Amino acid sequence: MNSQPRYSIVAPIYNEEGNIALLYERIVQVMESTGEPWELVLVNDGSRDRSPEMMDELAGRDQRVKVLHFARNFGHQTAVTAGMDHASGDAVVLIDADLQDPPELILEMIERWKAGYQVIYAVREQRKGESWFKLFTAKWFYRVVYRITEIDIPLDTGDFRLMDRRVVDVMRQMREHNRFIRGMTSWVGFKQTGVNYVREARHSGETKYPLRKMLRFAMDAVTGFSFFPLQVMVYVALVLGILSLLAIPVIAFLRATLGVAFLGGQATTIALLLFLSAFQLFFLFILGQYVARVYDEARNRPLYVVALRRNFDEQSLPSPQHAREHPETE
Ligand code: UDP
Ligand code: MG
Repeated sequence: MNSQPRYSIVAPIYNEEGNIALLYERIVQVMESTGEPWELVLVNDGSRDRSPEMMDELAGRDQRVKVLHFARNFGHQTAVTAGMDHASGDAVVLIDADLQDPPELILEMIERWKAGYQVIYAVREQRKGESWFKLFTAKWFYRVVYRITEIDIPLDTGDFRLMDRRVVDVMRQMREHNRFIRGMTSWVGFKQTGVNYVREARHSGETKYPLRKMLRFAMDAVTGFSFFPLQVMVYVALVLGILSLLAIPVIAFLRATLGVAFLGGQATTIALLLFLSAFQLFFLFILGQYVARVYDEARNRPLYVVALRRNFDEQSLPSPQHAREHPETE
């Protein structure tokens, strides 16, 4: 059998029959130049074209190609997760199968990894061959969504990244169902850095992210890493409550002194209704806080991630299997 791979390249595949052969070819070329053992983990996310047969064919002639077939389409982020679960390298690289992410960049990532970084993400300097709609939505997605999330997710990064085994092991403990991989990688921490690249046009086929999937993806990003939507209610409640409280004496005063009746005499009633709405919104906000906490508990993420321990007797620590040795970075 093969020796334990040092690098695992993980690529999700959903109807990529036009890309698989070239992807394999370019990965082989790049990875052979490292002179170290590697594996390519291909995850078939319920493809309906010739991709599955092509993947099996590759696996048949190259032992380094590992193939996983999903029973149906579970979605990009889930496919990537399965690939990470099954990857055994000391460093795991996520890459899209459509060759929008140039495999050649992996060499630069490996260099940074050897220099002591645990996450090296690819930053798109420029995107080629994509519609103005995709460019526009992507730009605003990254800016708006990332602004309201609690963690620092670097702008203009996709899932193309290299992760150290320790980062992968922590992410494997995060079993949340609505997954936003690039947020999860940021959440884990460790030493992270970016490398720049120009995003090419799709080699073959078209985007597997229609608007519906894009919206869902954005929702996963927001709900996975921000309670902002549950908190924003409190501001609405405060503004509404204060305005209506101020309005009532003003309306009453004008009515009594000048005899002006607003809205056919209904103004006080309306202001009162607004005040009650504000009251309800406030309690919805409180309810939201409990929901947020239930969600936090249900997600069951690790409470913290330890990067390094000193002067602990390793034998006395529970679950030592999570502390694989990487002497070159410690
Ligand atoms: N993909 C997947 N399942 C899906 C949608 C996409 O595995 O339901 C894969 C797809 O084959 C590709 C990667 O995820 O390798 C990125 O998809 P795509 O290139 O269509 O996204 P875009 O680059 O347009 O954002
Ligand atoms: Mg693509």
